[in-house]
Amino acid sequence: MSETREYVPNVIKAEEMDPKFKYEISKLPGAEKLMLCFQCGTCTADCPISRFNDFYRPRKIARMVQLGLKDRLLSDDALWLCSTCFTCVDHCPQGVEIAGIVRVLRNLTVKERAVMPLVSKELASNILKAGYVYEFPESRLKRREMRGLPPLPKPNLEDVKKIFELTGSSEMLEKAKTFEKVKS
Ligand code: SF4
Ligand code: SF4
Repeated sequence: MSETREYVPNVIKAEEMDPKFKYEISKLPGAEKLMLCFQCGTCTADCPISRFNDFYRPRKIARMVQLGLKDRLLSDDALWLCSTCFTCVDHCPQGVEIAGIVRVLRNLTVKERAVMPLVSKELASNILKAGYVYEFPESRLKRREMRGLPPLPKPNLEDVKKIFELTGSSEMLEKAKTFEKVKS
């Protein structure tokens, strides 16, 4: 992916809108309340990511899903900027879980477009390899022991592998192309 954000015209063409998209998304866990969004903008006003850039706007994401602008949403790597802090969820007067909607859109991007940030691929691969998001170095484990902390629970890697296979995550992970940085 290029490093520069392309200008996307604000004019929306009718053929860009998929009327079924909002219903498909609202069926998925975390996105059920999508249609309750009345565009008050509280989520954007309180979002720490929106505060520091000009293009990540949770309110706009909710509206774009309602309008069915699937291609625009899934081709925009800004989706990966959400830090999952849940401020928007806590403050939404309608109980819309924007963080959940973003998660659903990210999952769809990986599934349908086979693309994800490099760091997400690395973290997911670590879970598959070690059962944890991070691979703990031996020195860290020794330090825990020296401080009298109990050993970390041993993950059942066979079960982890089975979950990855049954959910199709292994295949998606293998196929996914990566990008290092969100365009600015
Ligand atoms: S705070 Fe809730 S209702 Fe208001 S724009 Fe954001 S998602 Fe929509
Ligand atoms: S969860 Fe994401 S969208 Fe919501 S406030 Fe935090 S960074 Fe913004």
